[in-house]
Amino acid sequence: MARKIGFIGVGLMGRGMARNLIRKGHSVTLYNRNRSKAEEVAQLGGQVVNSPADATRGAEVVVTMLADPAALLNVSEGPNGILSAIRPGAILIDSSTVSPTTTLRIAEGLKERGAHMIDAPVFGSKNEAEHGQLGFIVGAERAIFDSVADVFACMGKTFYVGGNGSGIYAKLVVNLIIAVTLQAMNEGMALATKGGIDPDIMVQIIQSSRARSGIIEMKSPHVLKRDFTPYFPLRLMDKDLGLVLDTARSAGVPLFLTSVLKQIYQACMSAGLADEDYCATVKFVEKLADVKVESRIPKGAEAS
Ligand code: NAP
Repeated sequence: MARKIGFIGVGLMGRGMARNLIRKGHSVTLYNRNRSKAEEVAQLGGQVVNSPADATRGAEVVVTMLADPAALLNVSEGPNGILSAIRPGAILIDSSTVSPTTTLRIAEGLKERGAHMIDAPVFGSKNEAEHGQLGFIVGAERAIFDSVADVFACMGKTFYVGGNGSGIYAKLVVNLIIAVTLQAMNEGMALATKGGIDPDIMVQIIQSSRARSGIIEMKSPHVLKRDFTPYFPLRLMDKDLGLVLDTARSAGVPLFLTSVLKQIYQACMSAGLADEDYCATVKFVEKLADVKVESRIPKGAEAS
């Protein structure tokens, strides 16, 4: 069933998600603050419009994939925003990583207009977005979610958690664990390298032991090759750690490691690493330890 979908926010992640909806035959109206990104996606199909309201008007489903709570509030509640144009019965799927309070505020605004909210933040990065293999962590009324299961199927798999706000809450928990694990890898690898241990062998040992993890599997090759091209920019994980801490404060849960890690990210932001991938946090440890975590395998010889 081809649907009329508005898509707002075609950055690193939204680009692939929107392209998959277009590939699957949906009629997609695209809006991005920087118009050229929407025009690039529209080379595959779809129509570029001038405002979030234009992307929303007449759409049965609107998908947002925006940087942070401020961006989502701007696009939803601002002039020519989603709320000014959404039709009764329409569904907003928000896949941005925001806070539960932001999600609930927008859900309320939609409800007043007879429309519905699904918080559906994702795990996976730009490659998974491009290949329709994201994981969506869903918070919504079950029947509303079921009614757009076909839309999610174009972009990845889903994990239903509960009502509005629970999807984003669970997503923040995932990012807390990923960020702390990656920092543990960075510190461990700095220590190993300083002690003269071959970094490639150290990674093999970690990944063969109970310390192994998916994020180490994903990020260690980039660190060892000194490739900090952003898949998930450091500025976005910094934002997420702030959201985790705000949420934990409201919930009355102390988060010791996350509090320290937020300061490390702040230092990395101040050091100009905001737009590098978040595995560039290794540079912070390296500087303090006067060491560089780098593969000893000559470039191009990895496969031999
Ligand atoms: P991104 O490349 O920085 O894209 C952010 C999008 O938000 C762009 O479309 C940007 O528009 C728009 N935007 C930012 N501020 C805005 C504002 N004030 N008003 C209107 N639009 C605004 O980020 P991304 O990597 O696609 O991430 C999008 C969301 O997914 C974030 O919440 C992130 O935490 C989450 N996420 C990312 C990854 C990942 O691996 N990258 C993985 C999981 C979840 P412009 O193009 O005009 O700047």
